[in-house]
Amino acid sequence: MNSPLISTHLLAELQCHGVRWQGADGLSRKGGAGPSDHKALSLGSHTAMVPMLNRASQDSPYSAVPDAIGAQALIFREGLQVGQVQLPGVPNFYALTTEDGIPYWKIATLHSKDVLATTVLQHCIRMNEAATSCQFCAITQSLTAGQTIARKRPAQLAAVAKAAVALDGVKHMVMTTGTPQSPDRGAAILCESAAAVTAAVDLPIQAQCEPPDDDIWFERLKDSGVVSLGMHLEAVTDEVRQRIMPGKADVPLHRYFSAFEAAVKVFGHGQVSTYILAGLGDSEDAIAQMSERLAGLGVYPFVVPFVPIDGTPLANHPKPDSAFMQRLYPRIGASLRRHGLHSDTINAGCAKCGACSALKHHE
Ligand code: SF4
Repeated sequence: MNSPLISTHLLAELQCHGVRWQGADGLSRKGGAGPSDHKALSLGSHTAMVPMLNRASQDSPYSAVPDAIGAQALIFREGLQVGQVQLPGVPNFYALTTEDGIPYWKIATLHSKDVLATTVLQHCIRMNEAATSCQFCAITQSLTAGQTIARKRPAQLAAVAKAAVALDGVKHMVMTTGTPQSPDRGAAILCESAAAVTAAVDLPIQAQCEPPDDDIWFERLKDSGVVSLGMHLEAVTDEVRQRIMPGKADVPLHRYFSAFEAAVKVFGHGQVSTYILAGLGDSEDAIAQMSERLAGLGVYPFVVPFVPIDGTPLANHPKPDSAFMQRLYPRIGASLRRHGLHSDTINAGCAKCGACSALKHHE
């Protein structure tokens, strides 16, 4: 039932529609940065982050019924079984706590099956006012719910990373941050965090931030142990940027592009990437053309289907059409091939992991 072809198609379907989860939530986290309201599902050799805990998934034609021990789940479409998935267990490092009593899972979480992910600073200047906030973002929700801490100290990150490698075999780490007031836009705290982790354990790190004020930060990040960098456009046209992320749109596209060029010189061809959320209003052509332009610079365009997160202004926004994604992925894949980009050659980060998108299957 889970041939590679069926797995790939089903995976793309589940990511667009979401899944009605018919079991307990366990340690899955609602809210936060990155894949919020998702669970990891493995289909054959593929692991995908699939939205399940948000309201938008409740009208999905797909449902998942876990077995008694939570190791597997059957996937149904309108009552007919269409697949069977494995459910990754709770990571061993989640059982540990710091000396001052903070559970490790509040400092960093396991994404997909082998990625350690953290939001170093769980606050963002873009969220200070509703008028400037990114409409899709849930960065403050997990903090408000007590599921994370506001600032992860370098020593805490180092301890968690060391444990996650030793106990759960994590292969790379994603460090993102809310944007602070400072002109480095988070690069400085990413430097000190990466330096602490690198001193403690051999773990490739991707840092994610807005373009900093000065390109010198790319050298500093690299010197701190960062091996890949994400600077996320999210939306590609000015109209959608202004509407969906009015604060972040203050940083013009031409600054993103100058930063991409400078960062590729430091980190190398294919080691710089950007997240693009499909389904926010950018057309298929606009996303495909932007992806071609990015790929031509050596920047990996990591295109993912937008997921409406509960509690955000876009909670009731339509989910992306699965057919739209199925047309888009091969076009991005052609750009990747044309410019010699592949997730396997990325040192660390989201585009290497790929679990929030079906793009990997079209490279
Ligand atoms: S693609 Fe990025 S955000 Fe999604 S699961 Fe992987 S590491 Fe996490």
